[in-house]
Amino acid sequence: MRNITQSRKLAGVRYDVRGPILQEAERLEREGHRILKLNIGNPAPFGFEAPPEIVERLQEALSEAQGYSDSRGILPAREAVARYYSEEGVPGITPDDVFIGNGVSEMISLVVQALVDEGDEILVPSPDYPLWTAQVTLSGGLAVHYPCDESNGWMPDLAAIERLVTPATKGIVLINPNNPTGAVYSAELVRGFAALAERHGIVLMADEIYERILYDGVEHEHAALHVRDTLCLTFSGLSKAQRVAGYRAGWLAISGDRDRARDFLEGLQLLANMRMCANVPAQHAIPVALSPASNWSGIAELCAPGGRLRDQRDTAHRLLTEIPGVSCELPGGAMYLFPRLDPEVYPIVDDQRFVIDVLRATHVLVTNGRGFNLPTPDHLRFVTLPAIPVLTEAIGRIGEYLETRRA
Ligand code: PLP
Repeated sequence: MRNITQSRKLAGVRYDVRGPILQEAERLEREGHRILKLNIGNPAPFGFEAPPEIVERLQEALSEAQGYSDSRGILPAREAVARYYSEEGVPGITPDDVFIGNGVSEMISLVVQALVDEGDEILVPSPDYPLWTAQVTLSGGLAVHYPCDESNGWMPDLAAIERLVTPATKGIVLINPNNPTGAVYSAELVRGFAALAERHGIVLMADEIYERILYDGVEHEHAALHVRDTLCLTFSGLSKAQRVAGYRAGWLAISGDRDRARDFLEGLQLLANMRMCANVPAQHAIPVALSPASNWSGIAELCAPGGRLRDQRDTAHRLLTEIPGVSCELPGGAMYLFPRLDPEVYPIVDDQRFVIDVLRATHVLVTNGRGFNLPTPDHLRFVTLPAIPVLTEAIGRIGEYLETRRA
């Protein structure tokens, strides 16, 4: 009998964050080893619990949320999202411009499927959160990576991006704050992205899931504030700042020139209809999470001096950069560190192989930089969510292991 094979669409689709490295970690766990996991940005298991009002609202909603909802989401959740952007100064987002999804991930999938045809090009940062590249590839499109410059705080260069625009370019992705680098873009740079998208009439897709995870007084600028003459799609949700990644509650807010995008928006609605709706109980958590009283679930305190996230970032950054041959930009946002291992000191050829070697030797799980579509095999991504003793142990073990891998 014929083998059962995967679809050809999957050729070239990669998502290393949960790939072979994680399987190896699970194998080691089955053998009885304790693995220190610094690989996934999932706050709750690290003791970052959501505020009780969010959990209580979801519990209360269970009985009233037994049926499907509108495909775009329950009205109170869409109203809360629309109100939020209006309070942020973004004009004209109504509840009809909002889709609630099973996390931002589902909305990325629906948007890219509705937008991208074979041969279409989407500009995506390198490094990126790899779901963007994976979804574009799955849709038959080409993710054209624009580099972010580590020597310039991982900022992208707009002039270089502009040179990558071709007649096949249909959209540009902006991840701000960025995963994996933690770079937060200035208002001027965000305005530049908006102007570039408007000049070429391409869709600006702003992944702002880390919009409130900010350190050192750095401010976040919504891309939607600056887009009038083309379509702007803003993605955010409750997985990170509100720490309820497991609820799968995210949204897409549509702004800018919707008239020219009517056909695309009809396609998006069709795809949303086909999957019925997002998980309904979790949608009920959104109005509570976005209410002024919730104050974004106290995330600002966690990121302020003396706050747990900020202390962990600082400690992990210090410990990593004390290792010879390791350098690391201090991130202004998000919950990751993306250190560089000097290739003269650590001649890594295959970084996936390298993190598996690290895992077997140290029982510490991190992700390789190429998993984020970085072209060179010289970076690792660390999650800064574990408590300081765990970070200290994990980075200490990696430091000792790296001594054995020096050129
Ligand atoms: N976008 C970025 C930049 C992320 O880092 C993540 C998760 O790590 C997501 C989207 C997915 O978030 P969600 O849990 O809302 O699907």
